[in-house]
Amino acid sequence: MKKILFACVILAASVLLGLNPSQARTQFITIGTGGITGVYYPTGGAISKMVNKKKREYGIRATVESTGGSIYNVNAVINGDLEFGIVQSDCQYQAVHGLDAWKNKGPQKDLRAVFSIYPESITLVAAVDAGIKNIKDLKGKKVNIGNPGSGQRQNTIDALEAVGINYEKDLHIESIKASEAPGLLQDGRIDAFFYTVGHPSIAIKEATSGARKVRFAAITDIDQLLAKYPYYGKSVIPVALYPGVDNKKDVETFHVKATLVTSANVPDDVVYAVTREVFENIDDFKKLGPIYSSLTKESMLEGLSAPIHPGAMKYYKEVGLIKE
Ligand code: GLU
Repeated sequence: MKKILFACVILAASVLLGLNPSQARTQFITIGTGGITGVYYPTGGAISKMVNKKKREYGIRATVESTGGSIYNVNAVINGDLEFGIVQSDCQYQAVHGLDAWKNKGPQKDLRAVFSIYPESITLVAAVDAGIKNIKDLKGKKVNIGNPGSGQRQNTIDALEAVGINYEKDLHIESIKASEAPGLLQDGRIDAFFYTVGHPSIAIKEATSGARKVRFAAITDIDQLLAKYPYYGKSVIPVALYPGVDNKKDVETFHVKATLVTSANVPDDVVYAVTREVFENIDDFKKLGPIYSSLTKESMLEGLSAPIHPGAMKYYKEVGLIKE
């Protein structure tokens, strides 16, 4: 009896609020991001804000979670612990094809792409006093290559291998989260660290504005690496974004893309709502920082290797971004 009474109250309340009864029940979604000083975290926050503005229309409440990064996010989305995750385009590709971190588990068949967002550069930050100007100068140095749940770890290993450095034999490695690396660099406990991240990021600002002078080291002579993997492309780190850094000119490196993924098990209406709100608010999104300024609706469909989720596809067809 109590239950029936409760149901009647909910129904009456939702009618009064002008909601249809199915929307009276809020659907909670969580977006997995990265460290709070990275760019995934504020990006997830911006996406959540856009979706939450329409809570009455969609009945969705979005939140973000700080996580270990791309590999963690793919796995958590597949396990159903997270509904969405921001992940590097290379990790999306590897998960879909059962490579690298997914070699033992095999292809992640339930992984679905939603859209891609901005380029992330493989960024090598080094102490000037360690004499590192190029990735090739890392031999024998103390270097953080990233935590195992992060996406950047594999980029780092790929880049090192491309220039003939074996990360296990030729370096003293640390495997801590990128968010902790700036502190270790400033404290003199490491000589350099890698971070695959959009610019500017708080972590890199932290690393470049301390007492120990820091520079970006170039990652060059990687044409073979770029030819081998479809998800890598050349890029530069715009040094003007970091006034404290020692470099005078933009620094050569390579990049991947930050993408949003979900699972085939997440309902179409939820993925549709997230996609629609981000695309309809793209102009506001672009104003949030330089990293988003070059976003276009078309570029947001590049760099995806998992099948596009049907909820996102519905929106892309509706607005003609993808033809029937
Ligand atoms: N690309 C990093 C990773 O997957 C995270 C970067 C960020 O949090 O902005 O591990």
